[in-house]
Amino acid sequence: MPKRNDLEQKALHFVMNTGYQGVLQSELWRELGASSREGSRVAIKLEEKGLIRREKELEGGRWTYRLFPKRMPANIETIVDCPCLMCQDNARCDPTTVISPKSCERLTEWIIGLDKPPEEPEV
Ligand code: SF4
Repeated sequence: MPKRNDLEQKALHFVMNTGYQGVLQSELWRELGASSREGSRVAIKLEEKGLIRREKELEGGRWTYRLFPKRMPANIETIVDCPCLMCQDNARCDPTTVISPKSCERLTEWIIGLDKPPEEPEV
């Protein structure tokens, strides 16, 4: 049986990689080879540390939890559509001038859009 800290690290790493989809607690423990009792303890510990979020979910007629990361891993694709990257005013943009990220509508709209989960591709 893996040590609890190892299990916490592995569980956190796994949950981080599930992104917005999250993972059912039972699937995670199966994947890590832990018992459900040990797994529940680790999930509660990670939640108490503020690293994951647990949401109750009915699965096959039984209540369980789906685990989500509180923070997503850094990824270059998260900024690939940032308007600043292709902006013709980029060189002149400065918080102390008229052209400023403080008042930029394009940047504000992009930031607001970051809060929404990505749309699933149509099949
Ligand atoms: S904040 Fe606005 S004006 Fe400044 S570089 Fe980004 S998109 Fe351009």
